[in-house]
Amino acid sequence: MGHLETPFVQLAFFLVGVNLIAFFFYLKKTLHHLDPSRVVPNRVRNALDTMAGGLVILDNQQRIVLANTAFSKSIGMEQDELQGIEISKLSWIADTDNIPTQMPWDVPLEGGEANTGATVQLRDRDNDLHTYIVNCSAVFSDAGQRRGVLASFEDVTELENKRTELSRTLKVLRTSRDEIREKNQELQRLATEDPLTGCVNRRSFFETLEAAWKSSRRNDGVLGCIMLDIDHFKMVNDNHGHSVGDLVLKTVAIAIRESVGDGGTVCRYGGEEFCILLPHLDLEQSTQMAELARSAVESLMLPGFTVTTSLGVTCASLGAKGPQEMIEQADRALYAAKHHGRNQVIRWDVMPEESPEQREEDQAVESKYSDHDNLLETEVPFHAVSALMSAMAYRDAATAEHSRRVADLCVAVARDMLPARECYILEIAALLHDIGKIGVPDSILLKPGPLTDAEWKIMDTHDRVGVEIVAAAFSCP
Ligand code: GH3
Ligand code: MG
Ligand code: MG
Repeated sequence: MGHLETPFVQLAFFLVGVNLIAFFFYLKKTLHHLDPSRVVPNRVRNALDTMAGGLVILDNQQRIVLANTAFSKSIGMEQDELQGIEISKLSWIADTDNIPTQMPWDVPLEGGEANTGATVQLRDRDNDLHTYIVNCSAVFSDAGQRRGVLASFEDVTELENKRTELSRTLKVLRTSRDEIREKNQELQRLATEDPLTGCVNRRSFFETLEAAWKSSRRNDGVLGCIMLDIDHFKMVNDNHGHSVGDLVLKTVAIAIRESVGDGGTVCRYGGEEFCILLPHLDLEQSTQMAELARSAVESLMLPGFTVTTSLGVTCASLGAKGPQEMIEQADRALYAAKHHGRNQVIRWDVMPEESPEQREEDQAVESKYSDHDNLLETEVPFHAVSALMSAMAYRDAATAEHSRRVADLCVAVARDMLPARECYILEIAALLHDIGKIGVPDSILLKPGPLTDAEWKIMDTHDRVGVEIVAAAFSCP
């Protein structure tokens, strides 16, 4: 410790310290003069600056030896600032498509081969995102030693933004297309389904019926038809209330559909009446199906009571001239089942003997029929009615909707008063009663305010136009 107090030793320490500091600053200044950018001659630098794309030269340690004006401007930094810093220190972010395990310039630096078309993104100082396509290739000395990498940067930010915008728009379009498809399916369902029971509604059923009837003509009349009515349903409503009645209707409908399965169509034909169409079953099989449905409903566990059903069965080979006549056969068999004590299945071809009162009642109905025999001879093709209705709906949706409501009300009132075929004609008449409006010009048909006298005159022609349309559309009395 005594030596440390010797002035000579202290001087030696002092000189060593001062020299170290002085050398540090001196070397730093000298090294600055050996700036790597000086390696690149000015004329080369000027030539690179005239290029529109970004260009960067890196040394083997990934330090930027030179960045041209286009690159420095693009990322918002001075050329001098960039010089000497490691390129990985810039704010690169993950590859647009997949997260890179290495940056594009790593490839030529590691293996020496060129790397083209890589995409990279970078955030500049203003936090704006830039997208570049990068091409890199190694730079070699005359002796064949790798000295660094030359990387070109093509700024595709604008293009990338457009691409992102486009794919966003596409996504929105796809979503709305799916929504429209779903809405259309929902509308289709609502148009063909009875909302309470989920069964096919009458109008949709008539189209199915027509098609099934046609193919049964080619198939030896193999087409079963069952008409089903809930017994004393009015009492369910009276004793338990309308909402329990609705619940019973729903439950019964489900039980019937489960018995019938995918092979048949169950239609809610009227309030508590269902019509079942069985395209692949003959009379024998249809009768078994009816029995199955009857016992399925009978064994339903309802809140504190049970319900039974009466069913009439027929098939397309029992002499009906058209589908509506077949329905009527099933309907009559159903009423025979009602008169013979309900909760049973009766076939059209083996109708039991009628009681004298019943015979009288039937004769009255028959005489009514003979008046209309001409009318009922040829059946009105329902697909033609549907076609006219959809023409009406395109022209004026409100009138089409009104016509359907009128038809529903007509059926509700007439179902227990008219035989099935007449009720069918009444329904069609109701659907088409305003069809002549197709011939009224839009300016009058869709006019929001009251019509003038002259306009009323044109509007008044719609009933005659309707007669013409109906006469032309149906070759039927
Ligand atoms: P039957 O054995 O002779 O068929 O007797 P019924 O009482 O079933 O027949 P009726 O035709 O006298 O009564 C049918 C009842 O069905 C009357 C009506 O109020 C009811 N009804 C029709 N549609 C609905 C509905 O959607 N919901 C409810 N709760 N009841 C309905
Ligand atoms: Mg009933
Ligand atoms: Mg009824």
